[in-house]
Amino acid sequence: MIDLNLATLYLTASNCADTMVQKIEDVRMKPGPDDSLRILKEGNLRFASGNFRNPHRDTLRLAMAGSEEESDHVLATVLSCSDSLVPLEILFDIGVMDVHAIRSFGNICSASEAAAVEYGVKVLKTPLLILLGHTRCGAARLSLNSAQGKSDPLDRNLSLHLKQLRNAADKVVKDFSGLEEEQMLSMIIEANLWRNLEELLLISPAVREAAISESLKIACGIYDVSSGRIDWLASTSTDSALQRASKSSKRQ
Ligand SMILES: [Zn+2]
Repeated sequence: MIDLNLATLYLTASNCADTMVQKIEDVRMKPGPDDSLRILKEGNLRFASGNFRNPHRDTLRLAMAGSEEESDHVLATVLSCSDSLVPLEILFDIGVMDVHAIRSFGNICSASEAAAVEYGVKVLKTPLLILLGHTRCGAARLSLNSAQGKSDPLDRNLSLHLKQLRNAADKVVKDFSGLEEEQMLSMIIEANLWRNLEELLLISPAVREAAISESLKIACGIYDVSSGRIDWLASTSTDSALQRASKSSKRQ
């Protein structure tokens, strides 16, 4: 209940004049996982409807960034794609010091991305981790084209980086060849999201244990670059990925 009240205060602050924001920010505490997710979901709906507020982008926020603890403010760690189609602070209608953003081509999670997630979860104490895929993903398209033999062989580093995504594309092309290309692309994008979540939970005991203990909430979604809206995926799939990663970690 306390979190809800404080989060309401936080949202109210975004609508007020600077002086009022200052007073409210002074007494604000960091929202918990559910309120953090609600704030980001509501920000995304504002962005998608064109009613964005552009909060936390003023000189007051800059002054706070220069003087206050980042961990007292950051709501979420977000792993998303480097594509220009996915500007995180814009699509969530947030600003400075709101999310610990990790952007990797194809939202692939390898050791360096896992390290950045661990920093967000353990040092910045973000109560929420979001994995965000998106439609029209360049990495997924490249992998599908490659799997279908429609493109030149991938360059060396692209080939290494996208290895698992290419495997997912190979499987979809093999098993679902009758589908429309855009349907295959959607399947690859979602399969890639779950694979990267499972990989993160497998290679990062810190993140896995935080998720198991429920001190960290994990939310996954697919951002539609045309509508600006995020399709939030079922939490049961997140739970399944956590269970698989836990079993695999015990076998290692
Ligand atoms: Zn992408």
